[in-house]
Amino acid sequence: MRPAALNPLFAPLRSLPGVGPKTGKLFDRLLGQNGEEARCLDLLFHLPHGTIDRRARPKLAEAERDCVVTVEVQVIEHRPPAGRSGRGPYRVLVADETGDAQLVFFKANHDWIAKMLPLGARRWVSGRLEFWDGHLQMVHPDRVLDEEGLKDMPPVEPQYGLTEGLYQRNAQRAAEAALARAPDLPDWLDPAFAQRRKWPGFLDALRALHRPADPQAIDPRAPARQRLAYDELLASQLALVMVRARMKTLGGRATKAPGALAARLESALPFSLTGAQRAAIAEIRADLESEERMLRLVQGDVGSGKTLVALLALAHVVEAGRQGAFMAPTEILARQHYERLAPLCAQAGVRIGLLTGRDKAAERKATLAALAEGALDIAIGTHALFQESVAFRDLALAVVDEQHRFGVHQRLALGEKGEAVDVLVMTATPIPRTLVLTYFGDMDVSTLREKPAGRKPVDTRALPVERIDEVVGGLHRALDAGAQVYWVCPLVEENEELDVAAAQERFELLRQFFGDRVGLVHGKMKGREKDAAMEAFQRNETKVLVATTVIEVGVDVPNASIMVIEHAERFGLAQLHQLRGRVGRGAAKSTCLLLYKAPLGEVSKARINIMRETEDGFRIAEEDLRLRGEGEILGSRQSGLPGFRLASLDVHGPLLNIAREEAKRVLENDPDLQSDHGQALRLLLHLFEREEAAKLVRAG
Ligand code: ADP
Ligand code: MG
Repeated sequence: MRPAALNPLFAPLRSLPGVGPKTGKLFDRLLGQNGEEARCLDLLFHLPHGTIDRRARPKLAEAERDCVVTVEVQVIEHRPPAGRSGRGPYRVLVADETGDAQLVFFKANHDWIAKMLPLGARRWVSGRLEFWDGHLQMVHPDRVLDEEGLKDMPPVEPQYGLTEGLYQRNAQRAAEAALARAPDLPDWLDPAFAQRRKWPGFLDALRALHRPADPQAIDPRAPARQRLAYDELLASQLALVMVRARMKTLGGRATKAPGALAARLESALPFSLTGAQRAAIAEIRADLESEERMLRLVQGDVGSGKTLVALLALAHVVEAGRQGAFMAPTEILARQHYERLAPLCAQAGVRIGLLTGRDKAAERKATLAALAEGALDIAIGTHALFQESVAFRDLALAVVDEQHRFGVHQRLALGEKGEAVDVLVMTATPIPRTLVLTYFGDMDVSTLREKPAGRKPVDTRALPVERIDEVVGGLHRALDAGAQVYWVCPLVEENEELDVAAAQERFELLRQFFGDRVGLVHGKMKGREKDAAMEAFQRNETKVLVATTVIEVGVDVPNASIMVIEHAERFGLAQLHQLRGRVGRGAAKSTCLLLYKAPLGEVSKARINIMRETEDGFRIAEEDLRLRGEGEILGSRQSGLPGFRLASLDVHGPLLNIAREEAKRVLENDPDLQSDHGQALRLLLHLFEREEAAKLVRAG
């Protein structure tokens, strides 16, 4: 249970004064985690990305031009638009003792101007002052205030990332209201440590960022920002070491096998293993045979052949008379793994079953019974494998594919389905070495950097979306020559309904050209429809598959040789790389077309250039990290690295090791978080929603 002290932070944003149902909805869209209502905390963690500095208070004659200033002036004259049309701007002449300036309003509301700027009144106006056509002017001042109003104006105004319909004022007011209600919490940092770095307390840090004293206050290197980043890193590291320690205390069990079964499977393959695959399998086998519990990450770029590594690891425990589970993040992938592996397994006498959320009741019952009595050796499935009703006779190994979709908590749940279950996690996101720790704690890592022989490079090109007609023309020829094509539609504002609409529209357009050779798959489809669409493509019945990013992870159709990505500028590098990895798997030469909407920003341009330069996932991951902080990436939350909200790893990376050491120290001295310091750390875990770890310690 969440400690009551944190309730004000987890209260819905709508409960704040000034946040009505309409703005509330916009905040939910902007900040809601996993489609839930936005909470006060979500806004407080939504740090300003910039500021407007209104502190300069010059006389008009001395004011620097093209800068934001706040000037005290007297209203001299109103000059409504001339002529009968009434168009053109409404000008108000103002002056101080050093000179005059015009305030310019387009499409002005005359009543508002008359009310805010009555003749002769003294006013403070704040905005960008420019020199134009021989005089000073300020177009649409940001603020027009009297003496009273000036007192309330923040001298440095925070600027927030917004969504359409929401204004800075909404975010600023809500942040103020949320701060006003935020509770003072006991500090979970060692006071001497915080002092040495000149870090403020948690609440003071939030205040310093949402009420910046100067523009530097929000810099990622500023003390307040470092403090919060550290808090987030500490929470994640603490959660990781606790889960890890828990696994250790649960103990391990040696699973020994001579390796005949794996050899049989291997000899049934039409190709030989890569050196990297062999090395990974050897490492895993050694882990399985040891008394220690295995927690290993297999990191391999798309197409590096991780599935086979998983199968041979599973074969090891099966040969020892025990069972294995192989978990995929989606139904499509679970089914694909099952269909791929079933014939191989049948040949080698390994019994495998499929368990997803959509099995018929009778089927499911039979599968569950078979698992419980040991009539099945391997269960392949989705998170349905976690459910309580699933029991194994003797589960030895759990393989979790494409791990980033699952939380630590779920890994643990699967680990508890057997006695001392070894866990193998596979990820297609080539995570830079520096970050492996962050995401996986002290897991052992096997890396598949080498790709299977015979892979041809993918010809990657970028072209503006205006040339879509040419692309369609090219597809005609390619389809006639027997090619298959993925056509990926972009994420729109992380809003699935809009994604689907875009994909639907593209589907209909392509149908006009290619008729029923075009298929469609998207996240809003029912599971069975989705499977049917995927299968039709896999069986080469449909030739063009229009998709949202549901195909991003893991899908394998070797005959597909063309990948079209629309609005490539909206995707992150990791995502583009994953998508491109769907082609270049078969004998044919493959092409990836990145359709972009001009003009491209600097960061998007850099991303597209990197895609054209290299297919090395590790290099792309490093570049991604470098570019990440610098541009907005739509859908970045879904892509690659799971997002930290406050820590930006390029800047705060050095704090990671400190957080890790601290987490270990805590675990040694106070494993159940019983001391006062430990109690404060529990708050931290809850604050960053790592309660799965908090659950592991005894309630205090
Ligand atoms: P990923 O690492 O992306 O999960 P897969 O395991 O899906 O990659 O493998 C991609 C493709 O490469 C599959 O069609 C698989 O059969 C094939 N493959 C795997 N290992 C080898 C190998 N050693 N030589 C040739 N092809 C391989
Ligand atoms: Mg895979």
